[in-house]
Amino acid sequence: MKVLKFGGTSVGTIESIKAVLDIVKTSYDNQEKPLVVLSAMSGVTNLLTKMAEDAAERIPFDADLKQLEERHFEVVKALIAVKYQNPVFTKLKLMLNELDDILQGIAALKELSAQSKDLVVSYGERFSNYMVAKVMEQYVPDTDYIDASHYIKTDSNFGNAHVDELLTQQLIQSLAQTHGDKLLFVTGFIGSNDKGRVTTLGRGGSDFTAAIFGSVLNASVIEIWTDVNGILTADPRIVRKAFSLPILSYIEAMELSYFGAKVIYPPTMIPAFLKKIPIAVRNTFAPEFPGTIIQFGSDGSRYPIKGISSISDISVINLTGSGMIGKSGFSGRLFTLLAREQINVVLITQSSSEHSITFAVHPRDAEKALRLIGLEFELELEANKLVMPEIEENLSVLAIVGENMKRTPGISGKLFHALGRNGINVRAIAQGSSEFNISVIIGKDDLAKALNAVHDAFFAELKKTLHVFNLGTGNIGATLFRQLHEQHDFLLENNDIEIKVVGVSNSKKMYFNSDGVALDTWREQLETAGEVADLSGFVERMKRMNLPNCVFIDNTASKLPATYYEDIYKANISIVTCNKIANSGDYAQYRLLHDTARRHGVDFFYETNVGAGLPIVRVLKDLMMSGDRLVKIEAILSGTISYIFNNFVDDASFYDVVKKAQELGYTEPDPRDDLGGVDFMRKMLILARDAGFVLEPSDVELGAILPQSCLEATSVDDFYTELLKANPYFNALKEKAAAENKVIRYIGKLVDGKVSIGLEMVDETHPFYALSGSDNIISFTTERYKERPLVVKGPGAGAEVTAGGVFADLVNVGA
Ligand code: ADP
Ligand code: ASP
Ligand code: MG
Repeated sequence: MKVLKFGGTSVGTIESIKAVLDIVKTSYDNQEKPLVVLSAMSGVTNLLTKMAEDAAERIPFDADLKQLEERHFEVVKALIAVKYQNPVFTKLKLMLNELDDILQGIAALKELSAQSKDLVVSYGERFSNYMVAKVMEQYVPDTDYIDASHYIKTDSNFGNAHVDELLTQQLIQSLAQTHGDKLLFVTGFIGSNDKGRVTTLGRGGSDFTAAIFGSVLNASVIEIWTDVNGILTADPRIVRKAFSLPILSYIEAMELSYFGAKVIYPPTMIPAFLKKIPIAVRNTFAPEFPGTIIQFGSDGSRYPIKGISSISDISVINLTGSGMIGKSGFSGRLFTLLAREQINVVLITQSSSEHSITFAVHPRDAEKALRLIGLEFELELEANKLVMPEIEENLSVLAIVGENMKRTPGISGKLFHALGRNGINVRAIAQGSSEFNISVIIGKDDLAKALNAVHDAFFAELKKTLHVFNLGTGNIGATLFRQLHEQHDFLLENNDIEIKVVGVSNSKKMYFNSDGVALDTWREQLETAGEVADLSGFVERMKRMNLPNCVFIDNTASKLPATYYEDIYKANISIVTCNKIANSGDYAQYRLLHDTARRHGVDFFYETNVGAGLPIVRVLKDLMMSGDRLVKIEAILSGTISYIFNNFVDDASFYDVVKKAQELGYTEPDPRDDLGGVDFMRKMLILARDAGFVLEPSDVELGAILPQSCLEATSVDDFYTELLKANPYFNALKEKAAAENKVIRYIGKLVDGKVSIGLEMVDETHPFYALSGSDNIISFTTERYKERPLVVKGPGAGAEVTAGGVFADLVNVGA
């Protein structure tokens, strides 16, 4: 036989109960008779708890009672044939009346004992199991409803009772003898003490009920059916990239769930472990998915850790004092005391000097722990051998778990690197001697970020699918699509990366397809199936599609997209862009965007903002990150200006060279847009900011190439007229340079945190002397590259290389 346990969400609605019925029927038809354990309908345990608490305060609970009735009656009406409904209504009504009486009693006494509370909440499981059993009876007449409080015997620790194994075993065995041929629906979560008073097994305890029955009845498997695809590498509500684990050992599942992976109740593993019965965690809403098997040994997973879990709210108490040194009995006394008073210590660390012990407890236990310490160690405190501790609040525990950890060096390094890089302060560390888990205590505010960062660090080489939303289908956008199309198979085979463009927009139309837009026919699809473009609608849709590993690409040169970047980061979506606007406006905006991206653990890549596909931004970042110190940057970052001065030699006139550049298509329609240097200025500004300097656009000293008369000309034609007149001015410059064996270059510089751009004359010892064509060039002088600077040179414009740069950024997202 096997045990099938369904959680609250699985029996939460009419639709989900239908899915449960199908799963139970399939199992029944396959001749492996199931025993079914159900939780209360989702939300019901919480509601009952609140009703009990309200009753004690004489807050009316009738409306809640009515709501309970309606939720269950609604299911009966929908799933039980009319002619069978009445007795079911009657029985449910009877139970509801009992509950009402109990609550009235609590109200009369104005007192809620743990015992009464357990009795009240036990109705949740009784309602749901009775009701679903009655639904099932229509298909399997031999169905019975079982109130497990008659079979699971416990001590009187209400709210979290401990099971009397021997007695429980005997009772379940006798149940099997009398009811063995029936399809049983057994209430999860509840038991009773020696006086027959109802107890509960702790929140989430229905899983445990399933394991107890499975173990006594020697089930072939205990199936825990829930609302996710098994146990995932992390809580999927916080870590979007979490994925389900096919196999876990009992120990791994225990460690993960102990540290907060709520998907399974930790004690569940013990009965299963003792009898080596596998536990399968499966999804009621995707029954074809195999889910997670928890079994005896771990598997040879390719990852060093299995998963990451966390407890979001924890309090820490730190004991220090000379009285602790060498006193071996000290920690014994402390923890015996806490155990005796039922304070669960989540984590302990002791400094090697034995000068301090730090331990973490649930916030509700912290005050009590402090009081107990005050009493127990009164003498030591009085003698100043111990400092009266304080409670540190608003902390969380993050734990990485896995049996492979002990065989793999460098795990903690990876963990702390990921936390450190993301600016997360670690308050305390604990590693169990088993080496199956490393736990850290961090600030509560950092938890979500930490979980994502650590998940990325350990599961980075995962085969990933990037979901791309691309804005702009001009030259660069179209070239990128072609390149993506050509490289698709190569990337998948060699880099385990699949890139799916799932949204495209230009200024006229936008189109979405979550299966991926075909990249050879994107233009037709956009044209025929696209809707009217609307940037805010595009962003909203992207967020709503809620796909993992999302990247927004801004392949436009427009101002508007940048106003959405912050919003996009907040949705945990990375951005890749060749658009310089966002990075080169106000410094405040630059800072905000970078900080927001980091806080949300997403990437902001813009290699193509400077020098198109040339590795410039990346090189600077690598230098800085590896601890090198920047002395100076010199650069020519405009292909047009580069071309003009590289060709303004010998007897060429400046006018002719500019004309020629325009004919070759190197310039904007108005060449002053290039020669004005604003675009160059933006690039220098971005580099300076990336190097850590706080600069506004107005801080850049931008020297002019053109005389005032050229700049003031009102049309392009007039500009050329003035430029012709300026030939003598430029000739004089050129001759002066030639006389000194130099050439003229328009060079951007970053020195001592200041950026300037202007005309200079350089001799042949300078790396920019021999520049040719329209190449860009940049030289980094640093502590390490002091004698000979690090130089990057090459084509710094053009659709092919720019799209290639965007492509490279894209592939690096999440890496
Ligand atoms: P049930 O009502 O079926 O008992 P629970 O709410 O107790 O379900 O547990 C399932 C939930 O646990 C999931 O919906 C998921 O949000 C949460 N969860 C937290 N951590 C994990 C994890 N590591 N793997 C899977 N689910 C997790
Ligand atoms: N209904 C109980 C709870 O919500 C037990 C369970 O669902 O496992 O905690
Ligand atoms: Mg549960």
